[in-house]
Amino acid sequence: MKKVIVIGGGAAGMMAAIAAADQGSKVLLLEKNEKLGKKLFITGKGRCNVTNAGDMENLFANVMTNEKFLYSAFYTYDNNMVMDFLEKAGCPLKVERGDRVFPVSDHSSDVIAAFQRELKKKGVEIRLNTEVKELMSSEAEEGKRITGVLLTNGKKELADAVVIATGGISYASTGSTGDGYRFAQNAGHKVVECKPSLVPFNMKEDWCKEAMGVSLKNVSLTLKCGKKEIYNGFGEMLITHFGISGPLALSASSYYVSKAKGECMCFIDLKPALTIEQLDKRVLRDFEESKNKQFRNALNHLFPSKLIPVMVKLSGIDPEKKVNEITREERKSFVELIKNIPLTIDGVRDFKEAIITKGGVSVKEVNPSTMESKVLSGLYFAGEVLDLDALTGGYNLQIAWSTGYLAGLNAGEQD
Ligand SMILES: Cc1cc2nc3c(=O)[nH]c(=O)nc-3n(C[C@H](O)[C@H](O)[C@H](O)COP(=O)(O)OP(=O)(O)OC[C@H]3O[C@@H](n4cnc5c(N)ncnc54)[C@H](O)[C@@H]3O)c2cc1C
Repeated sequence: MKKVIVIGGGAAGMMAAIAAADQGSKVLLLEKNEKLGKKLFITGKGRCNVTNAGDMENLFANVMTNEKFLYSAFYTYDNNMVMDFLEKAGCPLKVERGDRVFPVSDHSSDVIAAFQRELKKKGVEIRLNTEVKELMSSEAEEGKRITGVLLTNGKKELADAVVIATGGISYASTGSTGDGYRFAQNAGHKVVECKPSLVPFNMKEDWCKEAMGVSLKNVSLTLKCGKKEIYNGFGEMLITHFGISGPLALSASSYYVSKAKGECMCFIDLKPALTIEQLDKRVLRDFEESKNKQFRNALNHLFPSKLIPVMVKLSGIDPEKKVNEITREERKSFVELIKNIPLTIDGVRDFKEAIITKGGVSVKEVNPSTMESKVLSGLYFAGEVLDLDALTGGYNLQIAWSTGYLAGLNAGEQD
């Protein structure tokens, strides 16, 4: 019977272990933490957005890096198969706005529990608190071949195939400390530079501190580098003491990290449903209703209260000025401001705050139909350790499930 070792008991590793066991292999799952799925536990704010129920075109459209590499993986194990697997494993699911799929219970722990039950059922041996130090390989006539792994406790574990599913380097406290990159590099693989992605932005403007905590709904965010627009999205975002966060900012960061060149700016449109002309009429109406009030006291219907002093300052209009003394030009430029609040990007936050790592083991040296290394035979990769990433909405976990399944299927295949 073939022996398969899976390094990493996260989303991709658990799926790979199950798929390899299904092929009739003896599977050993090694996890350095005291429990499985530590990162899975914190996904989707503890609710775990397991996948996205959209069609195949939508899955590919939401992958930001190397989507073509995922062709076999997505078609071999798609979102419907993951949903079917979880439901059958006793974790009922529901579909929410934007086709995001969550457990009915809203508890990520139920996803992990479903995997644990399946791993047990398939006879996978799980070893917790067990850290892999390095890969072992031998030089044979037909080339280099994996022979097993060396653990940090000095023990050796032999295997016919090894799956690296060690994740990226974001939220390292969950166990993803980038060990897989080192294993891959030592085996002769190229690792594409890693950058934090789906991550909040630092902004140069001081006013963010003043407006910190303001949550903006139904706004649009545009990201421009020089004159070139590289992102535009509609939805929710949050002003923080350092800049911006929330869904819109996270999505924008993915484009920024991949495509930004030179000085980049973000522009917030607080009233994207209105044209400049419509908004001007609306502001005029508001101003007429409060014509004897001071400017700073006439904006209650337009913005959240914490944003008012900021908008007043940015407008350059004297806050004490009576509304009926505001000139047409002043009003027009105020309207422009509401639809285009500028923010100067001062980089993104650290890996500690990033949902995902962009970069990783280059897919050029991995067979997309099997996930096997083209450099070291018997070695397979799955999940975030690979140079693959997607937008939010369940797509990153789908990458982990699909590549995990394909890697396990092939690593576990009997000769
Ligand atoms: C806050 C947050 C929220 C997220 N929410 C979502 C969401 O709702 N939906 C979504 O699709 N994606 C989400 N993601 C992204 C998603 O969690 C990851 O893409 C996914 O977990 C990657 O799976 P993985 O198995 O490749 O890596 P991981 O889940 O990171 O698992 C890797 C495992 O390998 C183990 N390991 C590492 N090195 C070793 C070693 N040397 N020896 C033994 N074990 C080792 C680690 O301890 C870890 O358990 C979120 C991420 C974060 C940080």
